[in-house]
Amino acid sequence: MNTKYRKAIIAGNWKMNMLVSDIKPFIEELKPMLPKTKTCDTVLCVPAVNIPAMLRAGKDAKIACGAQDVSSYDKGAYTGEISAAQLADVGAKYCIVGHSERRAYHNESDMDVNSKTGKLIEHGVSPIICVGESLEQRESGLTMPHINYQIRAALADVDMTGLRRCVIAYEPIWAIGTGKTATAEQAQEVCGYIRSIIREIYGARPARSISILYGGSMNAKNAAELLAQPDIDGGLIGGASLKPADFATIIAATGADNE
Ligand code: PEP
Repeated sequence: MNTKYRKAIIAGNWKMNMLVSDIKPFIEELKPMLPKTKTCDTVLCVPAVNIPAMLRAGKDAKIACGAQDVSSYDKGAYTGEISAAQLADVGAKYCIVGHSERRAYHNESDMDVNSKTGKLIEHGVSPIICVGESLEQRESGLTMPHINYQIRAALADVDMTGLRRCVIAYEPIWAIGTGKTATAEQAQEVCGYIRSIIREIYGARPARSISILYGGSMNAKNAAELLAQPDIDGGLIGGASLKPADFATIIAATGADNE
């Protein structure tokens, strides 16, 4: 993590967990455990119906609220969808795009990820763009070409101003929800590679400023080692973000108290 040039971000992904009635008790338990001075942005990406309650509960604790998906269309006859304008209107600051679960269960393509990214940027919501390889791809030596493709596809037509809003999350599919974390070296290697792709497309300064997160079974025990890597600027956290004590430990592992 290099907080001289970029911000540390710890983002929880609650997936399809938690009810509105769980939010206030969760934040009340979390708040006293948070580091006093936070240089790390803390975000909880909650189910869309929970966003207003999270915004109310998270305000005092300085926890930003994020969504987990957005429509790739502006408005109209898209039953069940939620637009970027609607997310911005309700107060969401971040939105996950291209999570591997959406790619796998909802056939989300790289083109969808690109249009969702564009819509979010247009409405001032920061996309957290997820990329990552399957175990098969890793074992066949295809990790880097796959990541290269996903990053370039997600950012096609995103200009320098748009890029400033973007956050990238490297999430190896084989590590998500499996308890199998990438080693710090594996995670660093890919996050460093992602930064080099950004450098190639946008130049040195944007590459130095963009926050790149690691996600995949990050927890209270392994967070410090992963976050100590030079190109890992934070985490996208599933399971451990549902437990206030674990989530607080991960936030503290950014070194937030010491800066
Ligand atoms: C995720 O859902 O993005 C994730 C990383 O989950 P977990 O931390 O549970 O592996």
